[in-house]
This record gives sequence, structure tokens and C-alpha cells, in this order.
Amino acid sequence: MNLARLRQICLARLAELRDQGLRIPTPFDAAALCARVGDCLGQPIRLVGVPMPAGAPFGLTLFTDNGHIIAYEQGTSRVHQDHIIAHELGHVLLDHRSYAVDDETAAQLLMPTLRPAMVHQVLNRTGAYSRQEEQEAEMMATILLEEASRREEARRSVSTGGDGLSETDAALYARLRHGLEQPHH
Ligand SMILES: [Zn+2]
Repeated sequence: MNLARLRQICLARLAELRDQGLRIPTPFDAAALCARVGDCLGQPIRLVGVPMPAGAPFGLTLFTDNGHIIAYEQGTSRVHQDHIIAHELGHVLLDHRSYAVDDETAAQLLMPTLRPAMVHQVLNRTGAYSRQEEQEAEMMATILLEEASRREEARRSVSTGGDGLSETDAALYARLRHGLEQPHH
């Protein structure tokens, strides 16, 4: 399937979700987006940071009777984590069959001390998404991140018009202030 067609599929799915009330957080916030997608789909999504085993994918989505669990590599940059989570959300949003785990495995996966071992176990006995599904999820991740950064740009360029600072401006001012207060060496 060509990329233009893939993009169309993802945009159509996002438009559908937007009609159901889904808003992409600006600036991009993976945890907030997971919460919103969970609300929208009526299936909570739990995010767990894990040291993923060597040679394994950076992210893994599991389905339980009580919603999804997205495990992602915790030992990488924030930008990379955002991308991994957006990609996994892509699988969820596009209804790709995800790995099903029973409640006991899910509960163990959510326990910090057992997580790495459980991820290993799950990876060892489950198959993988098809190449087509991987491409779709990657396209969805790209669109989600693009949209968040486009809206962030737009928000930055819009004057606040005296009704208070936007979140971004407030953060910027906080950083500036912080910078000014730092002693100079
Ligand atoms: Zn994938």
C-alpha cells in the first residue's frame, strides 16, 4: 500500500475519533493522550516504562479484559519515548489485534519488580504485527506527533490577547525567569 493511501486511512480514523471528542494534547503529552484515547474508546490504557530486552521492539501493546497496557522502553530520550508510545497508540487506534494477556499476567506486568521478566515472557510467546500493521501504526504516530507540533506552533504564534498566558508562554517565562535568577559564573 502506498504512503498516501496509508495517510488517508489514518486521517479518516482520526477524524472519526475527533467526532467522538478526542483531542490531541498540545504540546504533545503521551500520558495525557493515552488517557484521552482510553476515555474515547471506553478502554483504559495503562503506560508502563520498562527496560525492554535487547533485540526486542521498543514498545509493546497488550490487551486485557480491563483495557490496554502499553509497555515502552524507559531508558531512552523523552522524544523517542513519545514516538514509541505514539506508535503503540497507533496500533490501538487502528484496532490492530493486540497481544491478549490474562489478568494475572497483566497484574504482574504492572508490578515494577516483575515487569522486565513479564515483558520477556510475553514477547517469547506472542507473534508480531504484520508489516502492513506496522506501517499503519508508524503513519499514525507520525500524524499524531505532526498534528501536536503544528498546533503547538500555531499557538506560539498567536498573541495571547491579554487573557492570560498560554501554557507554553507560561512555561517559557518560567524558564526565562529561572535562567535570569541563576547566578552567572
Ligand atoms: Zn508496531
